[in-house]
Amino acid sequence: MDVIVIGGGLTGVTTAYQLRAAGHRVCVIEQHATVAQEASFGQGGLLLPTPLDVWFGPGLAFGMRQMLFGSRNGMIYQPGLSAGARRFVRQLNAAREPEPFAAQCEKLRPLIELSRRTLVEMESRHAMEFEQRDGVLHLFRTPRELKQAASALALLAQFEYPHQVLDGDGCRGVEPSVPVGEALAGGVFFPYERSANCPLFTKQLKTLLDEHDVEFALGRRADSIRLDSGRVVVEMTPQSDHANGHRGATESIAGDALVLAAGANTQALLAQAGMRVPLYPARVHALTAPIGYEEHAPHVAVVDYESRVSISRLHNRMRYASAPVLQGRRKTFRTTPPKLRERALDTLGQAGHTWVPGAAKLSAMRDWDSVTLLSPDGLPVTGATAHPRLFINTGHGPGGWGLACGTAKIVADLVSGQTPEIDSNTIAALSPARFGHS
Ligand SMILES: Cc1cc2nc3c(=O)[nH]c(=O)nc-3n(C[C@H](O)[C@H](O)[C@H](O)COP(=O)(O)OP(=O)(O)OC[C@H]3O[C@@H](n4cnc5c(N)ncnc54)[C@H](O)[C@@H]3O)c2cc1C
Repeated sequence: MDVIVIGGGLTGVTTAYQLRAAGHRVCVIEQHATVAQEASFGQGGLLLPTPLDVWFGPGLAFGMRQMLFGSRNGMIYQPGLSAGARRFVRQLNAAREPEPFAAQCEKLRPLIELSRRTLVEMESRHAMEFEQRDGVLHLFRTPRELKQAASALALLAQFEYPHQVLDGDGCRGVEPSVPVGEALAGGVFFPYERSANCPLFTKQLKTLLDEHDVEFALGRRADSIRLDSGRVVVEMTPQSDHANGHRGATESIAGDALVLAAGANTQALLAQAGMRVPLYPARVHALTAPIGYEEHAPHVAVVDYESRVSISRLHNRMRYASAPVLQGRRKTFRTTPPKLRERALDTLGQAGHTWVPGAAKLSAMRDWDSVTLLSPDGLPVTGATAHPRLFINTGHGPGGWGLACGTAKIVADLVSGQTPEIDSNTIAALSPARFGHS
């Protein structure tokens, strides 16, 4: 079949890889001059999630207190008058209780395993090197935090995740750069969880796909999609024309199937087909700096459990990431107000200062942010839609690096008319049909 993929981020490129591996002819439409330029660009680098760092569950709390005084969970919640933001947060809060939390983790687990397995297969088949590093250490400042994480810790044991629960000294044994004076109630070390360079991987994959005749329509923005019973048609224009404010020549491309993997723009494209999924955008932040003092730089990735800030070492750089800002939908797509941005960057800087002081060269610190879509039940939106030629792969939230290789495989199987090799409950839990809209 001829399959069109809109979006050249991690999700679109991994989907193209699996589609090509399944024998399809593939064209990826990407508005930027190259791949991995939006959410997949400056992201945190951890192959998330585990039950300890999913973006739903017991560690999240939203409400008036968080709006007025800021939340310790690292989320910056400013809904203003947005009914959509409040509704979304109410839905997220529903998954905080141990039972719904465990049920969602149970559905997510097969996808996590599939993604890990698929990535390992890809890297060994193609001898890929993209700054992979073993080991992720979650740090808890207080016994209260450890207590709050009890249901996630129980799931780690139940799911038999290889992990070690450590006291403060044990944490420093694993990662000597954690300062001795800092209050530290304990930690959880995952020896086999990893961090790696997501845009480097995506670009390497594109090079591989170039050699296998996957077409990349770069610098082209998909403006409209048309679906009929026989073909799908995508109309696109050069992105440079949008930047200059005038419309140039429109090009059309037709195929047998279309996959929407356009990150934060996916909902707008889906709406053209008369469908919707209730995803909500958040602007997520990152700080990056060269390593300042090698002896202070961590060797494993570190996560501050409370603020959910990830601290990773990518080659000779340190990256601190997370601090999502949740506001009204339209505001999220505009520039973040300076005060909120400052709070987000402070959250990142504080975590770095606490756990790896001196690791980064502060004078060369650069900030970055991007919009990523969150789903109200914590799972990506991956699968077939009500139209037999239209598929969707988005909503990975802050866990896309760890999940995209798996969701790509699922979509490629569904496009090919194959049953994905994954639990059917997980397929149903990922499907856009779960929302009853599409
Ligand atoms: C700051 C930050 C930190 C993160 N940290 C982590 C982490 O540590 N671990 C983890 O697992 N995940 C993390 N994530 C999440 C992860 O990076 C994302 O889930 C993942 O990159 C999403 O990939 P994507 O391809 O779906 O989206 P994107 O990378 O946004 O790609 C979508 C692509 O579609 C293109 N596009 C959109 N509309 C059109 C159109 N109309 N025509 C043509 N092209 C179009 C865009 O240009 C873009 O390239 C983080 C995200 C952010 C923002």
